[in-house]
Amino acid sequence: TGLPNRVLLRDRFEHALAMAERARSRVAMLFLDLDNFKRVNDTLGHAAGDLLLLQVVSRLSNCTRDSDTISRQGGDEFILLLSDIPDQETVERIASKILTKLAEPMEINGHELNAACSIGIALYPDDGSSFDTLLQKADAAMYNAKGAGRNIYHFFDEQMNQQAHEHLLLQNRLNRALFQAEFHLHYQPQVEIASGRVIGVEALLRWRNPDLGDVAPARFIPVAEDCGLIVPIGAWVLEEACRQAQGLRLTEGLDLPVAVNLSALQFRRTGLVESVAGALQRSGLPPHLLELELTESILLQDVENTLETVRHLKALGVRLSIDDFGTGYSSLSYLKRFAVDRLKIDRSFVRDLNTDPDNAAIVRAVIQLARSLRLGIVAEGVETEAQLTFLREEGCQDVQGHLFSWPLALADLKAFLRRRRATAGASTSA
Ligand code: C2E
Ligand code: MG
Ligand code: MG
Repeated sequence: TGLPNRVLLRDRFEHALAMAERARSRVAMLFLDLDNFKRVNDTLGHAAGDLLLLQVVSRLSNCTRDSDTISRQGGDEFILLLSDIPDQETVERIASKILTKLAEPMEINGHELNAACSIGIALYPDDGSSFDTLLQKADAAMYNAKGAGRNIYHFFDEQMNQQAHEHLLLQNRLNRALFQAEFHLHYQPQVEIASGRVIGVEALLRWRNPDLGDVAPARFIPVAEDCGLIVPIGAWVLEEACRQAQGLRLTEGLDLPVAVNLSALQFRRTGLVESVAGALQRSGLPPHLLELELTESILLQDVENTLETVRHLKALGVRLSIDDFGTGYSSLSYLKRFAVDRLKIDRSFVRDLNTDPDNAAIVRAVIQLARSLRLGIVAEGVETEAQLTFLREEGCQDVQGHLFSWPLALADLKAFLRRRRATAGASTSA
């Protein structure tokens, strides 16, 4: 791309800083990350990726002045140094222009692509005066922009700094958590509406750290995904869930299917199929008693590879469900292509079922869809009798939620199942 490297960039930065000091103006550091570059590289090859980068550079040059610096940080990351900036509005104008220009289609090897990106911005003197501080803050802001939906720019603010700190803190503790046996699983029962029987459980990961106490999955799983730790952690979850489900069969005489959540990263790394097969084999759990919960985003990424992995998983005899159904892109074609067994209606739709007619309509439609395609259907997050009544009337098969049970430690699950068996009469089923 013929762009200056980081050493030169530092040099230009010092220069811009000296100028800004004299002129009492600002310097803006823009951290820019292309949203789809990896996909272009993976699907169309490196040559196409390189062409895309060249076009990006030429468009970036058109959005900036000669006195500004554009530098590539390897891969799909760029740093832009804008010198002599009078005010924040000027930076905003340039950032919007870059977003617009890069999002315009470009023709590469006969394909029409765009180079949508996310931009993080830090300012001298507002956010600091050293190169490294501004770079780190622009990076944090970029990260934040990506999380907020991509193809936008974010300025750095102190709250992001705290988030970055928390991220680092959790990552450090997570590194040791597996070896120090800080994880355990809870199990949330799933109940068949018609019979009231417990027809399965979902394994939910719990983390108790000696210093941090209990940390919620919503807080630590995104961090584990970012740093790749979700892969070994996910393998541990599979191992543990299969072992404990097999334990239930041996000690309680219960053939209770267990559902395990999979993260997108586990799909993208090789070894998932081996990890699932190994967990089944070592535990002795029959494959049909293991269900893997995927999210819609997994199925939309890198479709051919995912399809291949899903085929192998199905060949093992495990079941597949789609978690949080309706919150992603809900491409209906994948339901057939991936031979999914069950849909889980996301709890955000179930929550206001009785007050929000739109959510009620969505839930009704998803139930109909599942029935037409002969898929199983579970409603998540059922908390009230009113929700249950609606779901029953609409023909929903199974439910999961606080109305029946919170996620339980294994010993509590066993007690729960025994109690339900006792109240259900002398039947052999749970
Ligand atoms: P999820 O898979 O959709 O799991 C359901 C979540 O809803 C659980 O939150 C559960 O405790 C909660 N829940 C169940 N019933 C109710 C209810 O009636 N009301 C409300 N308000 N909430 C209910 P949890 O355990 O905090 O897990 C959150 C998310 O973390 C999970 O969402 C899943 O995406 C992820 N997660 C949990 N364990 C694992 C794991 O082992 N691997 C991976 N990759 N992700 C996991
Ligand atoms: Mg789940
Ligand atoms: Mg869910």
